[in-house]
Amino acid sequence: MKVTEHIAEAKGKTLFSFEIIPPKKGSSIEELYRNIDPLMEFDPPFIDVTTSREEYVYINKGGLLERKITRMRPGTVGICAAIKHKYDVDTIPHVLCGGFTREETEYLLVDCHYLGIENVMALRGDAMKHQRYFEKTSGGHEFASDLVKQIRELGQGKYLHDTVEAGNLADFCIGVAGYPEKHLEAPSLDFDLKKLKHKVDMGADYVVTQMFFRNEAYFEFVEKARAMGITVPIIPGIKPIAVKKHLQLLPQVFKIDLPEDLIAEVEKCKDNKDVRQVGVEWCIQQSRELKEAGVPVLHYYSMGKSDNIKAIARALF
Ligand SMILES: Cc1cc2nc3c(=O)[nH]c(=O)nc-3n(C[C@H](O)[C@H](O)[C@H](O)COP(=O)(O)OP(=O)(O)OC[C@H]3O[C@@H](n4cnc5c(N)ncnc54)[C@H](O)[C@@H]3O)c2cc1C
Repeated sequence: MKVTEHIAEAKGKTLFSFEIIPPKKGSSIEELYRNIDPLMEFDPPFIDVTTSREEYVYINKGGLLERKITRMRPGTVGICAAIKHKYDVDTIPHVLCGGFTREETEYLLVDCHYLGIENVMALRGDAMKHQRYFEKTSGGHEFASDLVKQIRELGQGKYLHDTVEAGNLADFCIGVAGYPEKHLEAPSLDFDLKKLKHKVDMGADYVVTQMFFRNEAYFEFVEKARAMGITVPIIPGIKPIAVKKHLQLLPQVFKIDLPEDLIAEVEKCKDNKDVRQVGVEWCIQQSRELKEAGVPVLHYYSMGKSDNIKAIARALF
């Protein structure tokens, strides 16, 4: 089922969903299952699977370093298929502009369609590790809105180099990213919201937000988005703080603000076990308020570990 259909079917009840990251190359998928298993009792209608950017590795060839490109966490579509098969749940692969030509994207979407995957998240992708800014891949898209357009056109039978008149159309429900505290490269929140509106105008069906720790940021964002004419569901994406280092890491990587109360609580912790507990409690409070406000889905960034998400879900669902 499509995410929009799940939301419509829930008739105002807040749904539970989460995002996982593929394991490192060479790892077993069993570890992933061990973290998904405890969350299935909360009945997620869908699970997102991220896609990582490719990166450079340097291989020593007789004293000379040779640069090769590799993906450390491949397998997004395969994992989506495996999870869908094992748990009978909808899975959502993250499809990136970065690292893929438009043709490769088309083939990936065709694979998804054959696998019965009905939703995709269309994202530009992060910059590669050695890059300061995102650089368009040769033959690929520059912005997520261009990717949304390609996916939407495919749903109408318009492939890149030919059109099919009728038949089995790959009509995906498309999610895109939104940033309550603005995207790190955007000159202002208004600018970023206009670009979000463009993604929706190109055919996006729903928005999932970047993590935030102050619900006001989400509420204000939704209000501004609605005022701008964005009418699609805006799903809050949230994450419990898990280690002390997150106090520096999360603002640095995602350019988000942490509330003073949360910082103070984390700073008081003796170890990361305490931090994890503070993170869970903060996230439960956040989730309660969002649920009371009637958000369609509470979407959790699990980063592959489920014990804290389970504790939060148990308090909420
Ligand atoms: C829910 C969620 C899931 C994510 N999953 C992944 C993942 O699996 N893998 C991964 O690598 N990253 C992921 N990301 C991170 C995301 O790829 C980065 O934040 C990336 O830098 C931007 O992606 P986007 O799709 O928002 O890009 P875009 O919507 O293309 O926006 C990127 C920037 O360009 C600006 N912009 C957009 N259109 C235009 C235009 N026409 N002209 C000028 N400026 C423009 C925007 O304001 C913004 O600053 C995720 C983010 C979120 C919120």
